[in-house]
This record gives sequence, C-alpha cells and structure tokens, in this order.
Amino acid sequence: MPTETVYGLAANALSGEAVAKIFAAKGRPQDNPLIVHIADFAEIYGLCPAVPEMAECLAEAFWPGPLTMIVPKGDRIPDEVSCGLDTVGVRLPSHPIARALIRESGVPLAAPSANTSGRPSTTTAAHVLRDMDGRIAAILDGGPCGVGVESTVVSLVGARPRLLRPGGVTLEQLETVLVEVEVDRALYEKIGDDVKVSAPGMKYRHYAPKAPVTVVCGDPQKAAEYIQNRADSSTGVLCFDEYRESFPTCTVKCFGSRFDLAAQAREVFDALRAFDETDVTKIYAQCPPDEGLGLAVANRIKKAAGFVVVDIK
Ligand code: AMP
Ligand code: MG
Repeated sequence: MPTETVYGLAANALSGEAVAKIFAAKGRPQDNPLIVHIADFAEIYGLCPAVPEMAECLAEAFWPGPLTMIVPKGDRIPDEVSCGLDTVGVRLPSHPIARALIRESGVPLAAPSANTSGRPSTTTAAHVLRDMDGRIAAILDGGPCGVGVESTVVSLVGARPRLLRPGGVTLEQLETVLVEVEVDRALYEKIGDDVKVSAPGMKYRHYAPKAPVTVVCGDPQKAAEYIQNRADSSTGVLCFDEYRESFPTCTVKCFGSRFDLAAQAREVFDALRAFDETDVTKIYAQCPPDEGLGLAVANRIKKAAGFVVVDIK
C-alpha cells in the first residue's frame, strides 16, 4: 500500500500467520519488528494496555503523519509483529489510500517498507514491482510517495522519550512538544553485532545499492572536488542538482537541490535504486547536514554506505 512516507507491505497485524508472510516476502530478519498502522487514534487503546500521556500529546501534534510511537504492547498483537518484544510501534498514516485500506480491512495493518530486506525503500509502485513481483498478491498504485523517507520512530517506554530513527517528523518538531528527547547513537554510527540496540532494524546494512558507497560530508563544493579527484568512468555519483554537470565521466544521479531537504527526502531512494540499473563499481555521495529533514536524509545515505563517511573540513 502507498503511504505518505514509503510504500508498505501490509498484512493483518492481529494474525501471526499473515504477518509471517511479510517476513518471507521481504527476507526480513526475524528479530526486526513491524510497525502497526491504524486509521483512527482511538484504535491505539485496543493495542496498548497503558497509552502514555505523551503519546496523546504527540498524536495531537503529528498524527495523522510520519511518526511512529513505541508503546507497551497488549495481548492482541502477536509475537510475530513485535518479534518477542513487550512493546509495539504504532502509526496513524495520513495517506488516504492507506487509511481506506485499514478501514476496509477492519483490522490494524502491520507494514514494513515494501522492499527486499537491505535494499533502499520503495517510493513508487514500480520500485515495489521490481522487488516484490511474484512474491505478493497485489500493489495499490498511489503514485510517488510525498515524504519519501520513512516515519520518525520515537520510543515512549523509557524514562525519557528517545529518538530511535529520524524520519518525516523532524527532531526539532518533536522538541516543540517534548521537553527533552534523547537521541540514539545508532543514528550516527555503525553498531556492532554484539550490541543490543533499541530499534532492532538499526543494526542492519540497509538502503544499500549493490556497489559500495562512500559518503562525503561537509561543504558541497569541496565534497564535489574530493569526488572529482577520485572519480573515473566506473564511478557513480549521488549529488545535489546543482552539481549535475560536475562529473562528466561518471554516472550521475541527483537527489534534489542542496537547499531543498524535502526534495532530497522524496528523491533519495529512487536515486540510490537507479545505480542498480547501471554497472558502476563504486559510488560517492554528497550529503546534507544533520538539521531538520537533513538528519533523516543523511542517516539513510550513511546507512546505505555502511557508515563509510569522509568528513571534509
Ligand atoms: P520499517 O517498517 O522497515 O521501516 O522498519 C521499522 C523500524 O521500526 C525498524 O527500525 C524497527 O526496528 C523499528 N521498530 C518497530 N517496532 C519496534 C519496537 N517495538 N521497538 C523498537 N523499534 C521498533
Ligand atoms: Mg524498512
């Protein structure tokens, strides 16, 4: 189903058997829990035995929209959804087709991004077809997704609210409602296999094209020069629109103006995916600073690179 963030692979969140098919279609690791999508706020009371007051404040401010809240899990949610955790992620999407599908189904829908596990998320029906053809029953084509990066995931089960994944709702927006938000270090750095992370999904290589990616952070002009000095005809470059003509010998994919973070969020997965239709053997990427939506865009690019990051001073 289309949502305002990315396309989701949806199944009845109350059926372990249905949910198991999501894991099979994606090849998703069994310890990476799913987000449950609802169509009306009141449905959260049926999924969560004790809804934190903070959840009501956040819902008031950001639902329907690209925010997932981690709350205590009630018995109706099968272990297949939460992967054995005693919490569950809940989101009320704003996309009219997603909400109509949830209402018509009469049940909440568990839905991760509709990509093969490890690949960039899907923001068009064509992306979904590329990954899921033959593995799923149908695609509802709602056109390209408006936000383009996944939901922000915030945990409300600890002493303080904690940002587990940056997304369509920015940290700065969250801070207008929450006095203090802790930020999980997995947002910025690679997490070792032995470390227990709060959002299991954050430890996996994700969003990655087939060719290895190096992120070049810092001033975009200097980043462009750094890349030019290392590029050859087998190099792919993920760059801001302003630098389209700067790498004439390379395969160039642009992901929006350096000044337009919303465009970058909308276009980043399509651009990353496009490299897989080429024969580039390495990819360099420009990257926005960690501000506003830039935090989510930069996180996706760095994850695509397995956190291989060069900081240009
Ligand atoms: P996806 O739906 O593929 O965008 O991934 C959902 C993200 O939410 C993953 O990073 C999960 O690890 C995270 N997530 C889902 N449920 C929980 C939960 N109960 N606790 C912590 N993180 C969760
Ligand atoms: Mg995903």
